[in-house]
Amino acid sequence: MEEVRVRFAPSPTGALHIGGAHTALFNWLWAEKHGGSFVLRIEDTDRERSTQAYEDTIYAGLRWLGLDWDEGPDCGGPYGPYRQSERLKLYIECAEDLVSRGLAYRDGAAIIFKIPQGETISFEDAVYGTISVKSETLKDQVLIKSDGTPTYNYAVVIDDHHMAINWVIRGEDHIANTPKQILFYKAFGWELPHFAHLPMILGKDKKKLSKRHGALSVMEYEKMGYLPEAVLNYLARLGWSHGDQEIFSRDELVACFSTENLGNSPAVFDTQKLEWLNAHYI
Ligand code: GLU
Repeated sequence: MEEVRVRFAPSPTGALHIGGAHTALFNWLWAEKHGGSFVLRIEDTDRERSTQAYEDTIYAGLRWLGLDWDEGPDCGGPYGPYRQSERLKLYIECAEDLVSRGLAYRDGAAIIFKIPQGETISFEDAVYGTISVKSETLKDQVLIKSDGTPTYNYAVVIDDHHMAINWVIRGEDHIANTPKQILFYKAFGWELPHFAHLPMILGKDKKKLSKRHGALSVMEYEKMGYLPEAVLNYLARLGWSHGDQEIFSRDELVACFSTENLGNSPAVFDTQKLEWLNAHYI
């Protein structure tokens, strides 16, 4: 079996919050379990909203949780650079290749991907099963914007391929993006990674988790006196289970984790349970 390579790809436009930490944890577990590599890629193409300070808080949050990465902007690695803002040349070269092959076209300074007609795009999601979309339902996709920066859907494919990522584990909100990304893989003739989308985390009122539900940044939990073991254990049980076991050490999580036990119904964030776990670890 080839080496498992996963990535966590946050945008440094905010601190590391619960949802991001949840995604990072499941990627980290999958890499640990298989003796693979966990890559940290900073998706900072939104130059106005991205800051070094946020990037630093993302590092701090991951380190506090003990989710150490093997390759990333701070430590380098064989597939760098690991910040998208440092990879602009590659995005443009690849887009120009598609233009030269008639698969994309220019519109002023922008480069746009032509959606092929009459195709059914299908993929097997490790959590949600088979997902199929007809290409007619998709609009032509901007690859490079007129300011020379790539769009998210495009840059993520270029990077995942060039960083040899073979498992894409991320939030369910990206399922709708996946068929577009698959069309890009096909246009380049690149092998698809495995996909596993993680269920949404909702507040008690079943609305998307936000600050008002107590979804704070990871470092705010530290300030409030939570232990990283408790937060990690809590996050692991959001959308994943192993029988009725609730308490897991880090090593147990690595040993027990598998994508088969990931659920596809939304997980509800429960502050009381987090407190209970915290009390246990204290
Ligand atoms: N930067 C994207 C996000 O934060 C990454 C999504 C992905 O993993 O493909 O949502």
